[in-house]
Amino acid sequence: MSTDAPIASLADVADAHRRGATTVEATVRSCLERVDRRNDELNSFREVHHAEALAAASTLDERLARGDDVGPLAGVPVAVKDNIVTRAGTTCCGSRILEGYRSPFTATAVERLAAAGAIVIGKTNCDEFAMGSSSEHCAYGPVRNPWDPARVPGGSSGGSAAAVAGGQCPAALGSDTGGSVRQPAALCGVVGVKPSYGRVSRWGLVAFGSSLDQIGPFAASVADAARLLGVMAGPDERDSTCADVPVPDYLARLETPPDPLRIGVPRQYLGDGNDPAVSELIAGKIQLLREAGATIIDIDLPLTTHGIATYYVIAPAEASSNLARFDGIRYGRRAKTGPGDDLFDLYARSRAEGFGPEVKRRIMLGTYVLSAGYYDAYYVRALKVRRLIKNELDGAFAHCDAILGPTSPVPAFPLGERADPLTMYRCDVYTAITNIAGICGISVPAGTIETDGRRLPVGLHLQCPAFAEETMFRIARVCEQLG
Ligand code: GLN
Repeated sequence: MSTDAPIASLADVADAHRRGATTVEATVRSCLERVDRRNDELNSFREVHHAEALAAASTLDERLARGDDVGPLAGVPVAVKDNIVTRAGTTCCGSRILEGYRSPFTATAVERLAAAGAIVIGKTNCDEFAMGSSSEHCAYGPVRNPWDPARVPGGSSGGSAAAVAGGQCPAALGSDTGGSVRQPAALCGVVGVKPSYGRVSRWGLVAFGSSLDQIGPFAASVADAARLLGVMAGPDERDSTCADVPVPDYLARLETPPDPLRIGVPRQYLGDGNDPAVSELIAGKIQLLREAGATIIDIDLPLTTHGIATYYVIAPAEASSNLARFDGIRYGRRAKTGPGDDLFDLYARSRAEGFGPEVKRRIMLGTYVLSAGYYDAYYVRALKVRRLIKNELDGAFAHCDAILGPTSPVPAFPLGERADPLTMYRCDVYTAITNIAGICGISVPAGTIETDGRRLPVGLHLQCPAFAEETMFRIARVCEQLG
């Protein structure tokens, strides 16, 4: 295998620090060395916070020496996607328009990780404003897949996925609006979670599609991902969309599979659109689940085919309004103006220079579907289909605990292969539905397939009802052990 040897679990890392078997500083140093060693090749990090991470490590070591309880992530290094703000360093969202931007505050999700003992080591590259499925639309260069550097790591949180898969750090944060945690997790062979809408605070996540966005963790195992989500989840007075729903202990029953275990497999999920080797591998896992005693239920989700069209109306509509603030005055790099230029010219020039082509495409699409005369035909209709998709999934969950399929129809593809936007958008066929319905989803490594002489990972995707993460993790744990 082309990735580094698996790293210790987060529980073991934290435990070693607590017992004094090693210091946090030693862990962070070796992590930073691994980041530096592979970053020219992978470009997973845009910025590494060497000094801040080492300072935080020595503070933690002092507290541990005093016998303080520093939390469940004692000294665990984490990487943060570049669209999640941190006071340390800069937050650029993969965009030129935010180059050098320093946030006056840190996102709640990151603050909670730090309060639980985690150490932020840097910011990871991503598609500009999280728009993309390959991490090629990044103003700071494309990210590369640790399994094959000629291939993409998926996107938009490709830097975070590559960082964990490449052994640069044991955990990372991404954001998932239509698949941006789960799809890169699948393409890089790690675990990635899209929590239910409202499970994790979006305070400090630079908004893309406000009704779809969630911050989610990347890790090497289901247990690690569950540990991270347990720390981040729960209401936040700074984000009124973050639900006041109790957060169960995701680890307590992780090793106990739900009994009975009913898995729904939509007939639309293993069809013609997939690479046949992906379908074959997932079908093999379904057979193993059946042999392990799960009840496999054939379900029908005919609206699956409308997911992408619905997503690519709603997400750009919300993005076009969210991105209005990057105008060179309120936020963002200001263009030089010439004699006779007025305020409008300043906005237009700043945005023309600052945004890349995919972001401009989304803004135009979004502005169009929201404009008078088209609003009912596109935006309102997409909202109606959204409701139908949600109802269809609710109907399916009356019969099963989880819906299973591949995370992505294809494995990691070569850089440049999906230059056509519609081909790129098709990557999201199975994942965008989860965000449209506000439910939760996880991608679990399911093994590898051979493509052009390389072994490439495939992700198994589970979707569960809103706020059913505890069950989702327990089922994911079963899938992780199928062999
Ligand atoms: N690939 C999807 C898009 O380009 C999803 C992105 C995301 O989840 N942030 O919009």
